[in-house]
Amino acid sequence: MASYFDEHNCEPLENGEQPNHLLDLARLLLDSGIGAEFELEFERIFGHVDGRKQPPAAKHIIENLPSINNFKSDEKCSICLKEFELNSTTELPCHHKFCKNCIIQWLNLVNSCPMCRIELPTDDKDYEQYKKQKERTKTRQLELDDLHNSMFS
Ligand SMILES: [Zn+2]
Ligand SMILES: [Zn+2]
Repeated sequence: MASYFDEHNCEPLENGEQPNHLLDLARLLLDSGIGAEFELEFERIFGHVDGRKQPPAAKHIIENLPSINNFKSDEKCSICLKEFELNSTTELPCHHKFCKNCIIQWLNLVNSCPMCRIELPTDDKDYEQYKKQKERTKTRQLELDDLHNSMFS
């Protein structure tokens, strides 16, 4: 199987060098005319909503992406807009499908689906902790809302 770098005709970067894939990807998406949907996502990532930058998805998730072949013949990858090919297509838990190459590149930067933003587990302990905390705050807010509703309705 040809590697990502072979197919894209570019040199792998040296260790330690920081490529700005996200910006490249952003430009690519904006140029390809499906920017609006993605712009929000980039704003969220670059804008560090909640003061947190999203970490990449956990390595074991990226390494164990399933191969799927149950796509329609005209279904396209939302990242590169090419039709899916056998044995190089995968699906996230949210059932959004992507070329493996595309989504691997994406998940190495950010742990959420580019289409629906569902978050995948990360290897970042701090971030996981933060996510749990956020979840707890949300639950508490819901409980308060319930309480409020039951008292005033
Ligand atoms: Zn693709
Ligand atoms: Zn999704």
